[in-house]
Order: sequence, then C-alpha cells, then structure tokens
Amino acid sequence: MEESGRFVARHVASLPKSGIRDFFAIVSRMKDAVSLGIGEPDFVTPFHIREAAMNALEKGRTSYTDNRGTLQLREEISRYVAANYGPEYRPDDEILVTIGVSEALDILLRATLNPGDKVLYHEPCYVSYAPSVALCHAEAIPVRTTEEDQFALDPAALRAAWRPGCKLLILNFPTNPTGGTADRAKLEEIARFAVEKDLLVASDEIYSELTFEGGHVSIASLPGMRERTVFLHGFSKSFAMTGFRIGYACGPAAVVDGMLKVHQYGIMCASIVSQEAAVEALRNGRDSVLHMRDKYRERRDFIVRRFNELGLPCHSPRGAFYAFPKVSGAGLDSLDFARRLLEERKVAMVPGTAFGAGGAGFCRASFSTSYERIHEACERIARFLDDVRRA
Ligand code: PMP
Repeated sequence: MEESGRFVARHVASLPKSGIRDFFAIVSRMKDAVSLGIGEPDFVTPFHIREAAMNALEKGRTSYTDNRGTLQLREEISRYVAANYGPEYRPDDEILVTIGVSEALDILLRATLNPGDKVLYHEPCYVSYAPSVALCHAEAIPVRTTEEDQFALDPAALRAAWRPGCKLLILNFPTNPTGGTADRAKLEEIARFAVEKDLLVASDEIYSELTFEGGHVSIASLPGMRERTVFLHGFSKSFAMTGFRIGYACGPAAVVDGMLKVHQYGIMCASIVSQEAAVEALRNGRDSVLHMRDKYRERRDFIVRRFNELGLPCHSPRGAFYAFPKVSGAGLDSLDFARRLLEERKVAMVPGTAFGAGGAGFCRASFSTSYERIHEACERIARFLDDVRRA
C-alpha cells in the first residue's frame, strides 16, 4: 500500500471498494460495450423539472437555505407523502431535505447508532448498507432473502437473525438488486416484530413509484409504526433526477432532530436549485413518472422472458428496474460469469456478490436502458452462453 495509507483509519481501510465501480471503470474504457450495469434511469430529467432549476438560477436563487430545506419543499413533501403513502409529517420538525437517500441514510445511522449496536437488513441489498453501518462502528446483521420467495423478506428469517443489541432494521422495498417486495401481510408481521423488539425502522422507499404490480405499501403507514419509522425517499429514480442529488427523510421529531445535527455540521443544506426542481417534480411530475414506469415495465417483461428462454432462471421483479437472473446453471460463479461476459461479448452485468453473499450465483441486469440495447445485450448473452456450453 502507498505509504500515506497509514493515516487511514482502520475501520475505513478494511472496507471493500464497491464491486460495481470496478465494472464501470472497465466498461467506460471499452468500445461497443452494452451496459446493463447502471443503477440510474436512462431518461433525462423531464423538461418541466429542468426548467424549474433554470428558473431558479435565472432568478438568482443561489443561496443557502434553511438547514432542514426550504419550507416550500417540506410542505410539498408533506402533502406528497400523505397522499401517496399515508402518514402525515409536520414540515416544521418531522421532515429533513437531504443530498439524496444516500445522505439521509448516512445521517440516520450516525444520529442513532452507538458503537457496537446491531443493525438488521435483508440481503442481497444495496451496496452501501453494510459499509455505512461499519462506518458507525456498529455491527451489520444481514438476513438472507431467497429466490423461492422472490426475494421478499421472510419474517421468520428476520426473527431467527435477531440478537440482543439490535437497534435498527433497514428495509428497502422494492429492493435493489432483486426487485423483491413485501406484501401487506408480510409487512404487518415485520411491523409487529419491530414493535416487539423495540426496533427503529429505516425504510428506503426510493423505488416505490416504480412498483409494477400490487401497489406499494409503506411500513410507516401500519399501526404503531409511524413513531418508530424513518421514511427515506428521493427523486433520483422515479423522477430521473440522480444528478440533482436530492432526497428527504420523514420521521419522529426527536430522531429527525438528531439527524439535523449531523446534517447541519456536515452538509448545511441541499442545493437550492435542486430543491426548486424537486418542488416542481412533486407538484407536476406524476405523468412523467407513470410514463417512465410503463417503459420500465415493457423492458422488464422482455428481459425476464429472454433470460428464462436462455436458460437463466429469472423471476419477474415487482418493482425497481433490475432483473436478477440465476447464472450458476451455466457452470460459472457470478464473478466469472460477469467478467467473461464483459471480456468476451462486451455486455456488463453486475455480479450478485457485489450485493452481499446472498447474491452468489446471480447477476444484476439493469433494464434502465433502451429496448434496443437490452435486445442487443440479450443476443450477445445468447452467443456467450452457446460458447460456454460448447466448451
Ligand atoms: N437506496 C437504494 C436502494 C439505491 O439503489 C440508491 C441508488 N442506487 C440509493 C439509496 C441512493 O440514491 P440517491 O442518493 O441518489 O437518492
């Protein structure tokens, strides 16, 4: 290691780099690659939302805002969450505007965890959960979800994983990378468990508008949950606003107050331009969201059908924009499959193990890219599988 490495804290030095970034670095240097690796919408932010950002700049709105975010945006968030998810949050002290769900999750963990506290979450999961917990000197306890269950969290598995010292439960429905969701009955069981064990719940609902079947239920709306749930949401996925870096947390005032302290000292506030764009998204963005969701659904149906035809068993994800086919039948592990597919046929998928040990044997294929490119990727995967099976 380079000599300055000795200055890096032990708990940071021991963190692995995100497995996804390694793949992106290779793909970006490769000509003619088709990437199913990206975790962001291929749509440009709808014009009316970009226009709101341009108007903010034109009017010279370039200052800091209230640490909590502009009152106008917090009021819109309050209305939007009540109308679409159920719970009502006070703009004054129960809503905090953040730099995406990334920051919301980070400051929630830092505001609530003491060293040694334990955090439950379902796995395979978003790459940042385990490292974010480790950065707080807390202990991550992953709970396996399985393909037999379409990667929904099984309340019995959650109960079995619980240990004394568990303080927080992170949920993410629909799930990145599996598209798993939990129906109301399962959520109710999970909610009862959270009450019984006195857990705080962090509910990452960033893909919730991109639910294709069955509707989305927020655990925050279930009896006894509002007072122990922090609802995390943002604009990156549903409104195609990743580059605006804007999101929010809604929760009980004392927890939000703790988060505000961490946010105040580390961040101050989200960009005012992004906040103005977010107001427009919440007020008038619904048609754009529905249009994008329909496009994702068409692509999902195509890619899932093709994977199954190609002998890569794949359930139909009920939400988000990721397919999670099982690749182990081809006789390769996830990493070899992804590496060879990239090298030999220039298609990028992310090895399932990037999302935790439970992803072994699977790869993640994002369908947030055009139908034509997904079609091309599937043709190349077919040729790749022919080569592998012939060898
Ligand atoms: N949670 C999940 C499950 C995600 O997939 C992502 C982004 N890939 C995030 C949070 C972070 O999103 P952002 O910071 O852009 O709001």
